[in-house]
Amino acid sequence: MSDIEIAQQAKMRPIIDLAGETFGIPAEHLDPYGHYKAKISLEYVNSLTNNSNGKLILVTAISPTPAGEGKTTTTVGLGDALNRLGKKTIMCLREPSLGPCFGVKGGAAGGGYSQVVPMEDINLHFTGDFHAIGVAHNLLSALIDNHINHGNALDIDPRRIQWKRVIDMNDRALRKITIGQGGPANGYLREDGFDIVVASEVMAILCLATSRADLKERLGRIVIAYKSDRITPVYARDLKAHGAMAALLKDAIKPNLVQTLENNLAIIHGGPFANIAHGCNTVTATQTALKLADYAVTEAGFGADLGAEKFIDIKCRMSGLKPSIMVLVATVRALKFHGGVNKEDLNVENLAALETGFANLERHFNNIKNHYGLPCIVCINHFSFDTDAEIALLQQKCEAIGAKCVLSKHWAQGGAGAEDLAREVLAIVDNRAAEFSYVYDAEQPLWDKIETIATKLYGAAAISASPKVMAEIKALQVNHGHFPICMAKTQMSFSTNPNSKGAPSGHTVEISEVRLANGAGFIVAIAGDMMTMPGLPKVPAAERIDISDAGVISGLF
Ligand code: ADP
Ligand code: MG
Repeated sequence: MSDIEIAQQAKMRPIIDLAGETFGIPAEHLDPYGHYKAKISLEYVNSLTNNSNGKLILVTAISPTPAGEGKTTTTVGLGDALNRLGKKTIMCLREPSLGPCFGVKGGAAGGGYSQVVPMEDINLHFTGDFHAIGVAHNLLSALIDNHINHGNALDIDPRRIQWKRVIDMNDRALRKITIGQGGPANGYLREDGFDIVVASEVMAILCLATSRADLKERLGRIVIAYKSDRITPVYARDLKAHGAMAALLKDAIKPNLVQTLENNLAIIHGGPFANIAHGCNTVTATQTALKLADYAVTEAGFGADLGAEKFIDIKCRMSGLKPSIMVLVATVRALKFHGGVNKEDLNVENLAALETGFANLERHFNNIKNHYGLPCIVCINHFSFDTDAEIALLQQKCEAIGAKCVLSKHWAQGGAGAEDLAREVLAIVDNRAAEFSYVYDAEQPLWDKIETIATKLYGAAAISASPKVMAEIKALQVNHGHFPICMAKTQMSFSTNPNSKGAPSGHTVEISEVRLANGAGFIVAIAGDMMTMPGLPKVPAAERIDISDAGVISGLF
């Protein structure tokens, strides 16, 4: 059965009843969106402040491959398994973006028997958060061009506007556009472009904001452009944009509650890109889950070198969240891919390739242990093609590096298939304080922070940058030296070359660009090419998606 067929057979409970019975969330604090989705009021979120915190479990993965690793699927499976063992657990996921949903990757509601539902709603418009974020972003864009049209009192240099427009779609034709065509009545002619909504700084801000006031303050300090002197920043607050933007986000700021196939609660809220942004769900959602439940399972985007690093160095640093453990998801197929096997041949047993590709897992495992200061369990997300010999080899390789490794069958069996994983996680998190370490110090200069990430985690020998970029970093150091770094690197490799698989070392990480995300509160360091507006593949997933006369959707995955 396909993911969507499994999801459509789910026996969902009305979300208000479920939330009341399991965690005592009062109905008056839930805004229902239909019967199976609800937003949690901020008053309720704030009323939980004095509750003690549950244990925070982060699911991350080896470097992603086209073979798929299954972080979301594992997050759901592990959460369901913990609940099966009688442990009160809430899962915290990111909201899917329509771009990948209609592109190659598909949706992001888990897979097989480890999914969140209603799957169609979650993958399509959900509760409208992305719409609201896109409109808040585009309001600011419109205000900028309008300001220039009406005399440009702020002296914005139209060639130095860094605030683009956004849409939640993979549409490469919009990457670079010309606006204001058609003469003076239509404003000023200038170059512009679109990013995908998940790459918007408004998305990152929403995910890091801790209150409406914090949200508004962060929106106000977004740097949109520079003045004609080239150095004086123009802020969103100079255009008095932040109040209206925050108003548009009035509901988007509230966490969304749904359930898994096994009727356990999941909060799905926010979904920033893991390259230009930090790739984690909202701080509000994670904190709410920790206050309500004894365990919260969440995921960060891409591999453990990207999303998990930013989870630690950005999300936890800004919010005070303390993880207890990381679960490193790996698949036999993906490790064989890292060992040089082509995508088409991944279902054939290949022990030599698995052995070679293991280097990727080993590097991530050591990074988590030595640089994030966290215990790490390797979860082998079982695929039906995996052979016994491959699994035995992988277990033996893990043992040799001191990694606890659990075979997990949650995709095929739901929570029951992940009970072993859940027991191993409990054995660790219940017996240690939630302590961890940052990869770098906030006080280190920006350049040193980037170098620390590249050398400690990526195995690089050095970082480099053009004199122009070095000068920009130096300039940012003056007022923003304390900001954490948001590394934007290919997710496919530890290096900046997506084709360099396994665990490359001794390479140089070239920083091609730096960007100030002043509202989010980090510096984006771009290493290699980075996509902020993806394109669709030759045969997009959209071609297979359909709806029947009865309103039943098919083809989502
Ligand atoms: P990630 O969160 O790491 O991007 P997902 O959990 O979204 O990955 O899974 C990606 C895709 O792979 C989904 O379509 C899911 O159904 C599929 N998948 C995950 N685990 C398995 C598995 N064990 N067997 C088969 N397909 C799987
Ligand atoms: Mg995912």
